[in-house]
Amino acid sequence: MTSMFDLSNRVAVITGGNGGIGLGMAQALARHGCAVSIWGRNADKNAAAEASIKDAGGRVQTLVCDVSDRIQADRATQATLDQFGRIDGCFANAGIGGGGRHAFIDRTPEDWRRMFSVNLDGVFHALQPIARHMIERASHGDKFGRLVATSSMATLFGTARNEHYAASKAAVNSVMQALAVEHARFGITANAILPGWVDTEMTEGLQSNDKFMANAVPRIPLRRFARPEDFGGIAVYLMSGASAYHTADCIVIDGGYSVF
Ligand code: NAP
Repeated sequence: MTSMFDLSNRVAVITGGNGGIGLGMAQALARHGCAVSIWGRNADKNAAAEASIKDAGGRVQTLVCDVSDRIQADRATQATLDQFGRIDGCFANAGIGGGGRHAFIDRTPEDWRRMFSVNLDGVFHALQPIARHMIERASHGDKFGRLVATSSMATLFGTARNEHYAASKAAVNSVMQALAVEHARFGITANAILPGWVDTEMTEGLQSNDKFMANAVPRIPLRRFARPEDFGGIAVYLMSGASAYHTADCIVIDGGYSVF
């Protein structure tokens, strides 16, 4: 009997897949047979991520790529196609946090632009060439594609001192809904994942702030930060045939925080 979640004929790109949430997704996808192409800037982190997946018997390629640079993203798309022959899914997950240090009135234009160059332009740069490839395949009768972006629960709240981060992610939600409507005819779904608080490098500073933790954790019904592996299940589901009719969604995975 073949499993609904057998991904052995699938190839997925995970931007920012060399650590944190992206690595949690990449490892779960690889365990279900999916070939994974991880794009990240840091070659050492890429090498460690690659080893962790190879050691578990997975098929993996890593590429040094800064997604804020259009040319690098185009090259990484081509290098993925050269290695695996096709791309069935793209998890546009690479992102930077806002830090929450500066008041809005002190936000520099450089800070603002940098945020959007990674968190929004980076999503555009990764998804566009891959969507082109998927549409080309669909024109030959191979209609299957999964476009996914990692957004944030920050888009649901008034995110003080992080308005640039929240705005970049709110834009991502809108992009994914628009892509879902435009690409449904090609068998391509598009969804955003909205994580709550997650234990990764991005939140190291917050997690060492006792006052913040004492206030935030009791507000999470599951009473803990998420771990990167908590995002493996949603990645496998979205890559699989099980999610064929699931598109245009903003999928909140926050341990219940946003409704408590
Ligand atoms: P993380 O551990 O810091 O991971 C960020 C990843 O993005 C790393 O793999 C990093 O790799 C990559 N990256 C950053 N800038 C890049 C660029 N310009 N080009 C290519 N790769 C880049 O943080 P994380 O928490 O897993 O974050 C993953 C996503 O989840 C982000 O989009 C973040 O906004 C979102 N998110 C996180 C939380 C949370 O609580 N942690 C909550 C909601 C949403 P390199 O260092 O090698 O570039």
